[in-house]
Parts: sequence; C-alpha cells; structure tokens
Amino acid sequence: MLKTPTNPDSWALIYSNRFERFSFGEEHPFNILRYRLTYELLCELGLLDSPGVRVVECPLAPESALTGFHAAGYVATLKEFSLDQTPRANFRYGLGDMENPVFPGVFDWALLGCGGSMEAARLVAEDGVRVAFNMAGGYHHAHAARASGFSYLNDAVVAIQDLVRRGLRVAYVDIDAHHGDGVQEAFYTTDQVLTISLHESGEDFFPHTGFPHELGEGVGYGYSVNLPFRSHSDDLIFEQGFSRVVRPMLKAFRPDILVTQMGVDTLRTDPLTRLEMTTGTIEYAAREFLATGIPWVCLGGGGYDKINVARSWALLWSTIIGIEVPDLLPPGFVSIIRQMGCADRHLRDRPHCAQPNDFARAQELLEKNLAILERRLFPLHAIVPGDCR
Ligand SMILES: [Zn+2]
Repeated sequence: MLKTPTNPDSWALIYSNRFERFSFGEEHPFNILRYRLTYELLCELGLLDSPGVRVVECPLAPESALTGFHAAGYVATLKEFSLDQTPRANFRYGLGDMENPVFPGVFDWALLGCGGSMEAARLVAEDGVRVAFNMAGGYHHAHAARASGFSYLNDAVVAIQDLVRRGLRVAYVDIDAHHGDGVQEAFYTTDQVLTISLHESGEDFFPHTGFPHELGEGVGYGYSVNLPFRSHSDDLIFEQGFSRVVRPMLKAFRPDILVTQMGVDTLRTDPLTRLEMTTGTIEYAAREFLATGIPWVCLGGGGYDKINVARSWALLWSTIIGIEVPDLLPPGFVSIIRQMGCADRHLRDRPHCAQPNDFARAQELLEKNLAILERRLFPLHAIVPGDCR
C-alpha cells in the first residue's frame, strides 16, 4: 500500500533543458527535439500553469540503481564509450551501430531517462502525486546487457524495481507500436509485476517477440500478457483489444501503482510503423488509465514524427489534468514549427478508419489472439470473457 494518500489534484511533469545537449545524429530517426517541442506546445496551450501542476527537473539516476537489472560489464562499457572522444563500438552489447549509436554523453543521456522515471515513481509513491509524466522515458527495448531499439538503459525496469522494493504491486501497460520486450524480460518470472504490451505483431516487425503464448514462467506464469495487432489496425481495433484485455486484467490484478509506456509510433503518419491509429487512441488510453483510479507513473516512448509526439503527448497531458483543448494547434506553436518547415495545423487527428479489407484482416487476428488469451490467461485470474465493465 502507498504510505501517503494520493492527492487527486496533483500532477507532475518531469523535464530538463539538459535533454537538448544530446543528439543521436542528424540522420537518426530518434530526434531529441521531440521533447522540447512537446514542452513548448504544453506551454502554448497553458497546460503547465494550472493549479496542481508541477514541473520537476529531471535528475540523473544514481549508478547504483542500475545494478538490479543491468549487467555491470555492460554499464561500465557504456560509461567508458560515452567519455571517449573517438568512436567506439561493441556489437555484443549492441553499442555503436546505426541503431544504437555511441554519441558524446550517451551514458548521461541514459541516466537522465532512468532518473526521470525513478523521480516520477517517487513522486507518486511517496509524495501522493496522482500522475507523474516522464516524457523522456519509456526506453523499453534495453536488455540487461544489450542496447536495442534506441534504448541504452531500461528506465521502466529500474523505476518498477524501485517500486517493488517499496513493497508495491505494479502493473505495467505498454501501448507503443513495438513490443515492450526489455520490460517483459525483467519481470518474466515474478507475479509481483504484471506486464501487458499491445503492439504491432512481431511476425515481421521489430523486435519480433510479444506473442500471446508468451505468458511468463514459474510463479510469473499468467503475469506477462501480449496482444499483437496486424499492420493497418486502427483506433477501433485498439479500443476493442484494450477493453477486452487491459481493462479486465487491471481489475483482476489490483495493482498499487500503474506504470505505462505511451509510445505514439502507433499513429498512421509515423514513418517507422504500419499501424493506422490516431491521436484519439492516446486520449482513449489516457481516459481508461485515469478511470482505474490507480496512482499512475506515465512514461513516454516511441514516435518518429516529432510533431506527432508533441501533439499526442499534449493531448495526453490535457486529459490527465482534465483541461479541454481545441482541435487546432495554437498560433504560437504553428509559427514555431513553420520555421522548421512543418505545415501542421491540427492538434487532434481527424477520425480515421482502415480500408475495409485491412480492417477485416486486423479484426480476424484480434479475435484469434483474444481467443488464446481468454482460453489460457483469463482462467488464471478468474476473468469471465466479455465481462469488461
Ligand atoms: Zn516503438
């Protein structure tokens, strides 16, 4: 149980100007500018001035916090490479290739991600904050001894381990387009942490894991949950999957704290994925998480169109703090992005449905995967299929 009662009107956004000191490189799809753009849009919408909202500086994680998950040799190598002026690589550790470049200060960059998520967890677990959002977190692909998918250190795992040490039961829900493989791996054999990942099917898509039969091991069996979507799945597919799996599992597990990874590479205009969701999915998921009433540690994640990231996370934050925002972007933000050559004017996406053939195929896979979960997972938690109120 949490020590401090949760204050329903207290929200924290974790941010730092230090994010801008780092760069994955000009050609890399992960553009760190995404965080400043999100922050600027939140300011332009007046979403950081509301009573109860705090902006908290993102701290560096202490290195001692990493050892519960990450291998000492991997951490030492990442730190050593980070300080070296000449380019270094170690492919066994996934470091120094096109995907996970070793850029100056990469170790501090990764420590900021972990520090922000740990701070968000502390604010919720200790200070009674209702929701804390670490936008520069959610690096869910980092493995114990290997960088992967633009993730060097797994902030979600480190923060969840911190919560577990406080005696809390944690549910982790990951709605990024990619499977949350690093987080699943960390908690695959425990029943103290429930991990749920909704993502584009790994059949022919990175990281090629996250199938419904991956249910955990030992006492952890039934506490790893995966619902893959076929490419071209849209908002309606997502909402069905969410309401039929995430909703009943959270109700059955009854966590003390919810940790979510809010990747927005599910949007149909994302350049790296093939899902067809809109910002409506992000608002829907935020409403669902709030409706559980569970104190919430909210983390960022993927999203490779930087304007999509800013728009989606502004809508996420407005939903969290309960402030209505218009469908169009504020003029101040339009002029900021116009200077970058972006002509976007919409804050919210227009509703979008997949083509009928694509939708039918997506619905078919959804039903097939739901049937597996209903047969193998739901009886372990005494969940009656269809009872998703
Ligand atoms: Zn992703």
